[in-house]
Amino acid sequence: MGELLRGKTALVLGVANKWSIAYAISSAFVREGASLVLTYQGERQRETVEELGAELKASEVLNCDVTRSGDLDTLAASLNQSSPVLDAVVHSIAFANKEDLSHPFIETSREGYLLAQEVSAYSLVAVSRAVTPLMKRGGSITTLTYLGSTRVVQNYNVMGVAKAALEASVRYLASDLGSAGIRVNAISAGPIKTASARGIKDFSKVLDAVSSLAPLRRSTDPAEVADAAVFLASDLARGVTGNTVFVDAGFQIVGLGLS
Ligand code: NAP
Repeated sequence: MGELLRGKTALVLGVANKWSIAYAISSAFVREGASLVLTYQGERQRETVEELGAELKASEVLNCDVTRSGDLDTLAASLNQSSPVLDAVVHSIAFANKEDLSHPFIETSREGYLLAQEVSAYSLVAVSRAVTPLMKRGGSITTLTYLGSTRVVQNYNVMGVAKAALEASVRYLASDLGSAGIRVNAISAGPIKTASARGIKDFSKVLDAVSSLAPLRRSTDPAEVADAAVFLASDLARGVTGNTVFVDAGFQIVGLGLS
């Protein structure tokens, strides 16, 4: 049991199951003494996330589809009743149509492009606007991104474009919210086998290639991403905002790797 987040309340969006990066982050937050609020997207996920919330001793598990502004308003109103002071927010949410993660990027439909942007990038802006009034003593907002934002990664396609928008949104939000003592950062995680990742064609090939070429010669452990999220949410990161922090076994520095 650590103390890095003792006395802090954290809202974590994006726990779908035990393989979710948000689950690893939630576990690490609890280990470090945070009080936790989780969200789920719609009735389909409710039971699973409630069970995980009970295991993690979350004080609340609330419904929130980030594409519905009514859900965000209700989330903020519920939190205002139960956890009126938030210290940390983790946004671990993304979605794109499966066909847009397998066909050539040039075939991306207008609808598919806008959907990926809405769920995976704009939602950070909408969530931040809804909950920052509760961050009365400042705090930290952290989102999850991937190297496909700045480099071409086969089949990542429309999600890479959404991650580029997400990372730019991090910088603009950090600028807007800095005077309120709210820091905004992204963690760029290496590939990890999760439900979302399985939707990307040939994901396991990417995982294998990255593991053999990364300086640390291995893949990324969700627990390493979670520890970086603890750091960013903690007072240790009090001078860090507007950043993208890579937790990817060093793969982002590789130009041409021959394993
Ligand atoms: P995950 O377990 O599938 O998490 C994605 C979450 O997004 C799920 O909880 C999903 O809920 C939620 N979500 C999708 N649409 C939503 C909506 N409209 N409203 C609310 N929630 C919604 O996969 P993950 O890999 O942990 O992904 C978490 C984040 O890490 C994503 O931003 C992802 O891009 C990023 N990331 C992942 C990797 C990787 O290799 N896995 C690497 C770098 C970055 P439902 O399941 O209910 O749809």
